[in-house]
Amino acid sequence: MLVFKFGGASVQDAEGLRRLLRLVRTYGGDSLWVVVSAMGKTTNLLEQVVQAVRDDRWPEAMELCGQIREAHLERIQPLRLEVDSRATSPDQKNLEQVLDTWMDRLLEELRSLRGSQLSYNCFYDQVVGYGEILSTALVSAYFDQNGWGHRWVDARDVLVTDATWRDARIQWEPTIQRLHEVHQEDYRNHQGVQCVLTQGFIGRDRVSGLNTTLGREGSDFTASVVAHALHARELWVWKDVDGVMDADPRLFPMARLLPSLSYLEAVEMTYYGATVIHPKTIQPLQNKGIPLRVRSFLHPEAPGTLIGGGENEDQRHSCVIVKKNQGLLELVSKDFSFISEEGLSMIYRALYEQGLKANLARHTAVSFSLVVDNDPYKLQPVQEALSPFFEIHLTQGLSLWTLMHQSDKMRRGFLSGKQWLFEQHLNDIYQYVVVE
Ligand code: ASP
Ligand code: MG
Repeated sequence: MLVFKFGGASVQDAEGLRRLLRLVRTYGGDSLWVVVSAMGKTTNLLEQVVQAVRDDRWPEAMELCGQIREAHLERIQPLRLEVDSRATSPDQKNLEQVLDTWMDRLLEELRSLRGSQLSYNCFYDQVVGYGEILSTALVSAYFDQNGWGHRWVDARDVLVTDATWRDARIQWEPTIQRLHEVHQEDYRNHQGVQCVLTQGFIGRDRVSGLNTTLGREGSDFTASVVAHALHARELWVWKDVDGVMDADPRLFPMARLLPSLSYLEAVEMTYYGATVIHPKTIQPLQNKGIPLRVRSFLHPEAPGTLIGGGENEDQRHSCVIVKKNQGLLELVSKDFSFISEEGLSMIYRALYEQGLKANLARHTAVSFSLVVDNDPYKLQPVQEALSPFFEIHLTQGLSLWTLMHQSDKMRRGFLSGKQWLFEQHLNDIYQYVVVE
């Protein structure tokens, strides 16, 4: 079987939905899971909704929900009467009704959460996954309309997680079991099922039964979990770029496509901040030797990038990765005690509890500096937990540049005109904390 993942950019307009159906028909084979994220920038809008409700700006929250509805309506309107000529048994759905059913549920959810005592991060997880629900409900209705037999699965019923809100961790055993159950059920009991359609990014906490999310851009990871559990032949991530590049083409127009990468290179690149795939995606695939293809939905005939195809496991490409919106957290021990194992474990625990990662770290005798994603809702609890023991200073407006496997000359070229606070290197991986 195969797993396909379609991100927000691939379903941002009517043409994206048409294309998705075409790609699934053309390349899907006979056992396929399709993982879809929220359409366009829906997740960002939902984050604003959360913020507005939390700040008790209810009319603004409603206005934002109106915008979400409008944006979806614009996407589906051109598709209203569209039925593929090959469709054998089209089931004409009113796409607008489907949209409104789910919009109503979202509003209901917001009303019931209003004034609740949930922490910000938990509240966030109850709301923000609606983007994925909306997108897959609409894709599903469009599939029906075109006679494309499939089953819509609510990912929250299969992805069992813990309660690390906004960065929930998969509980592997029950998740694998649930995925197997659903997979077998599908192809046994549902005649004419050509694929399973589900959402990326969302899961459910095993204990509380509340919704969870896997972290921004986490749909790739969902697809990788599905591929791992069901022993997929390959995972294909469909994107609006030709594949994995050696630099972000929006920042560096000279960026080149990398036709193949080892798992290790892909892990390294995503660890240092390459956003083409979510950092957690590689491990579950590597563990089962499942290749990952990153392909362009605009040029589906092009081969894209193959990750972990078994060849060149020790190759190294030179590349540059820029991680934006970083904060530098400087911690100085209050009683002038050395930064000990105890201090370090306290610091790392505080980060772990918020699902934050030290993107770069260095310490001296009494101080510790960490470069982290500048997310105030995660950083504030970290600062609160550590402030009894450390003086803490946060510098914002930074980005972290990682230059991998490059000559001195190439590095100088990339960094010309830049100002940085400090640098660190290990072998031929150089990192710079650059002032934005
Ligand atoms: N919709 C979510 C986000 O925008 C998840 C994803 O796109 O992978 O972060
Ligand atoms: Mg996305």
